[in-house]
Amino acid sequence: NGTEVPIEIGLNPIKTAAGVFVLSAIVDLSERKRLEARFRATLESAPTAMLMIDSKGCIALVNLETEKLFGYPRIELLGQAIEILVPERFRTGHPQQRNDFFATPEARRMGEGRDLYGLRKNGSEFPVEIGLSPVEMDDGTYVLSTIVDITERKHLEERFQLLIGGVTEYAIIMLDPHGLVVSWNHGAQRIKGYRADEIIGRSFVCFYTPEEIADGVPQRVLKEAQAKGQVEEEGWRVRKDGSRFWANMLLTALKDKTGNLEGYSKITRDLTDRKRQEQRLRATVESAPTAMIMLDPAGQIILANKEAGLLFSYAPAELLNNPVEILVPMKFRTGHVSLRNGFFAAPNARRMGAGRDLYGIRKDGTEFPVEIGLNPVDTGEGIFVLAAIVDISERKRLESAQRQLNDELDRRVKQRTAELDRSNEALVKSNVELQQFAYIASHDLQAPLRGIIGFSQVLRKRYQDQLDPETEMLFTRIADGVTRMQTLINDLLTYARVESRSRPFEPCKLNEIFDDAVNLLDSSIRDSAAQITRSDLPVVSGDRPQLVQLLQNLIGNAIKYHGELPPRVDIAATRTNGDWDISVHDCGIGIDPKHHERIFEIFRRLHTAQAYPGTGIGLAICRRIVSRHAGKLWVESTAGQGSTFHFTLNAAEKEHS
Ligand code: ADP
Repeated sequence: NGTEVPIEIGLNPIKTAAGVFVLSAIVDLSERKRLEARFRATLESAPTAMLMIDSKGCIALVNLETEKLFGYPRIELLGQAIEILVPERFRTGHPQQRNDFFATPEARRMGEGRDLYGLRKNGSEFPVEIGLSPVEMDDGTYVLSTIVDITERKHLEERFQLLIGGVTEYAIIMLDPHGLVVSWNHGAQRIKGYRADEIIGRSFVCFYTPEEIADGVPQRVLKEAQAKGQVEEEGWRVRKDGSRFWANMLLTALKDKTGNLEGYSKITRDLTDRKRQEQRLRATVESAPTAMIMLDPAGQIILANKEAGLLFSYAPAELLNNPVEILVPMKFRTGHVSLRNGFFAAPNARRMGAGRDLYGIRKDGTEFPVEIGLNPVDTGEGIFVLAAIVDISERKRLESAQRQLNDELDRRVKQRTAELDRSNEALVKSNVELQQFAYIASHDLQAPLRGIIGFSQVLRKRYQDQLDPETEMLFTRIADGVTRMQTLINDLLTYARVESRSRPFEPCKLNEIFDDAVNLLDSSIRDSAAQITRSDLPVVSGDRPQLVQLLQNLIGNAIKYHGELPPRVDIAATRTNGDWDISVHDCGIGIDPKHHERIFEIFRRLHTAQAYPGTGIGLAICRRIVSRHAGKLWVESTAGQGSTFHFTLNAAEKEHS
């Protein structure tokens, strides 16, 4: 139909008996030409520099990008040896490498592990990455190479290296797929002690402890990282000088687009300080005599000491990794979680649950009251809480026992006070009666007595000439009786007035009081030739005139109740915890012990007025005075062997000499 087609013709002579014929095989090349054209067009429009060389290393094809990249017009490249684009220093080796590729042609990256450079027409060099793939053509094998200018990437890489190299806080290193160190930064040098030139090319295994190496840990870690992509681990690692440090590591497998392992990056932190701190804390907690547990921010028990185990009847290991709520009684558990979160939100050292009663629960379900101190601990992995727990069962028990005792005491005091109130009332009443009686005695009894004495004197005067001695004697007895009656009434008044005529207490020097009493007894002392002695007496707190009366009565009795010999009286004082014990000792007739109490009763006498004068009220007055001074009065004596009267008095607050 007149259209043309590109063809290829193969000619073959065929000899026959009839002569030589030609067999022509004709192939239509339209399709191939179209493909070739498309190939060229694709190549031409590719965004990457691409060129093709033949097996002799001559450039057969270049695209636009190649012209731009190397600065040659294609006319100057086609047919040239490829070495024109290779810097001088690499040229010699290049034909050999080229031939090697043609011997085993397969698509691959050129110069694996080496830095490649291209050479521009203007003589400048630039780093490149080259991909090679064999292309079968009719006239043999060609190589299609793709050339990428990696100046920019190199630059970035260098910057990245600079950045990483300068980091001192972290050891950042790269390992090749076998674990050999490829890069090393400042941090790595600081933490591990090796310089880059000492360690690059060596296996990373040397960072592990001999035990771990024997255990195959390093290889396992690499495998794990390869499988999972990333592994984080913590443990003791070894420095160049053999010392160890606590390391936290992040190992990441680096893979290319197709998933081939390119190597590993390894970032290591030195956490030795934190570890040591943690170990110290652990040791402190372990050896603490108090139950202690440590919680992580999620409320899990991460540490429990022996005491804590004993307190809650768990083995300490059983407590680990359990929520702390297993130690909290059921009914408080839900509330506890929010309280715990509240503490973590604003942690400060304090006593837990101020004002509330806290309880713990043992493994066997029994509950017991506790007191808990909380302490936040900053571990570097967040805030943890250290809780110290004390069983206060015993204290609670003691407290309640104490409360019971107090209540009991209270009850008794109330009861006793009521009793005292009653007896006080009675006492006040009897005192009032006594006062009334004394008043009556002094006025109403004295008057008739005066009448009796007056009338008997009138009678005696009127009949004095007619009186016989017996009547005379009767008049004398009337007068004696009345006098005695008056003495009794006066004594009774004195007795009653111990209370009503009392004065406020003051410091009283007993030495002076003794002198006053002795002066008042002057005549009876002289008459009886009594010998009165005293030791140095203290200053006491009291009512001075009453104390004079007290001593006067006791010394008076000691003189009155003497035996055959002239009376001898001795007064002494001894200190008995805060009080003074004053004794009045005589060598007189003594008192039978069966009368020791009765002699202090009012009007009680052991003798007739003829044997010893007296009204029997003296000791009653003494007892009243002493008891008003909050003291005691008693006698120690045996009949015929003298007597010692004792009384106690309070020492004056300030001693006066
Ligand atoms: P009175 O001396 O007026 O009899 P008191 O009350 O002073 O009264 O004494 C009561 C009794 O105690 C006395 O009658 C006496 O029998 C006995 N008595 C007191 N003091 C002594 C003493 N120092 N020695 C022996 N007996 C004493």
